[in-house]
Amino acid sequence: MEIRTRFAPSPTGYMHIGNLRTALYEYLIAKSQGGKFILRIEDTDQERFVEGATEIIYHTLKMTGLKHDEGPDIGGEYGPYIQSERMGMYMDYAKELVEKGQAYYCFCTKERLDSLKSSNEKGDAFAKYDRHCLGLSQEEIQKNLDAGLPFVIRQKMPTEGTTTFHDVVYGDITVENAELDDQILMKADGYPTYNFANVIDDHLMKITHVVRGSEYLSSTPKYNLLYEAFGWEAPVYVHLPAVMRDAHHKLSKRHGDKSFEDLVKEGYLVEAIVNYIALLGWSPSDNTEIFSLQELEKAFHISGLSKSPSIFDIKKLTWLNGEYIKNMNPDTFYLLAESRLKQAIQKETLDLKKIAILLQTRLETLNDIPRMVTFFDTLPEYSTELYIHKKMKTTEEIALSSLKAALPVLEHLSNWNEMTIHDTLMELVQTLGIKNGQLLWPVRTALSGEPTSPGGAMELAAILGKEESLKRIQIGIEKLENI
Ligand code: GLU
Repeated sequence: MEIRTRFAPSPTGYMHIGNLRTALYEYLIAKSQGGKFILRIEDTDQERFVEGATEIIYHTLKMTGLKHDEGPDIGGEYGPYIQSERMGMYMDYAKELVEKGQAYYCFCTKERLDSLKSSNEKGDAFAKYDRHCLGLSQEEIQKNLDAGLPFVIRQKMPTEGTTTFHDVVYGDITVENAELDDQILMKADGYPTYNFANVIDDHLMKITHVVRGSEYLSSTPKYNLLYEAFGWEAPVYVHLPAVMRDAHHKLSKRHGDKSFEDLVKEGYLVEAIVNYIALLGWSPSDNTEIFSLQELEKAFHISGLSKSPSIFDIKKLTWLNGEYIKNMNPDTFYLLAESRLKQAIQKETLDLKKIAILLQTRLETLNDIPRMVTFFDTLPEYSTELYIHKKMKTTEEIALSSLKAALPVLEHLSNWNEMTIHDTLMELVQTLGIKNGQLLWPVRTALSGEPTSPGGAMELAAILGKEESLKRIQIGIEKLENI
């Protein structure tokens, strides 16, 4: 049997980390078994409809490489793949259930239903329907229909016993049938409820594995009873625990947690995000942490899914992002970094490619670039306290004498490159009989004006060029002389 999974997002305007993880697992469950991954847009909740939201879904799937095999934009055998375009399909299925005695017409007015709620002791808005219309005779039903009375179609739930379904992650789940409400399948406007459409669509699209957030776990008995009522085979259920911000709170965009788009804007690489979220609830059989999507397709197995909620750890993602940057081909990295480098550095004499090489091994997110490189363009205002460094054994006095010694030696250097600068400075260390750091730290500080820099004294000097380096060392001397 061909494995078919589907990603069924409601277009809300952004891609939650949790949603993207669902999509990724759906993709991986299908692809790890040579199956198909289908995109279905569940856009029937018009109140939540957001302009442009569907495009965000396409765009995210494209960026992340979660290529769907069927979907609204590429078609397929089981379309349409946009729920609002399927509206004509559901009534016949509801009527089929009525004929089978598994569903029934309900003509109760809103007033009557409201009075049911208020007569319920607890005033419980979720009070169960009292099955008033279940007892209507065939003649009464026909009379009402002929009279054009508005109606809904309700699922007839068993009143005794239990319903059990198996979930791959959560195991067997059993509910008392008596607790289940005769939920509405078709609304008075002739449209299906979300729950009904979802089941019919999954069946018609031959979905074998339903993968979604655990918030749907409580509705699943009802879904399962629908499959049973039709006599259809239920899919394999895979409910995923929430992605958490901390031990008590789910990630939530409304509470400021970042969406996929936010992370990309903040300089995280798409590949690193995908890799990171793959590990939010799934673990490989060994301790590997770095996976490309292709590697995930091979390594993924449904048995590695965990039922304990995972906490989204931005530090871990940031670390992983740094690893991706380090391992990137330098030319690819330069292309990624270029616009941010240009944003921070206007001086045309500076070789951005050389700066990029220094950055690549030291960077965690692309957005750190401007902050890390602006000093190449303009020396910032800085305090002479930066010259004091315990480990390097430097004080402001030592820094001053080192800079004063370095200036004339570097002035005489005619062939200015990293190698010659290195040899010159190391020779000076020997002559002065001091520790390397006592010369190199002051020079590095004078050249950058920053407490940290991508690269040490020689690398910075080589990139800045002779004239600019000497100018900055001179500025350092003046600053130190004036304290
Ligand atoms: N449209 C639902 C959502 O975005 C998906 C439910 C499902 O996958 O069954 O939450």
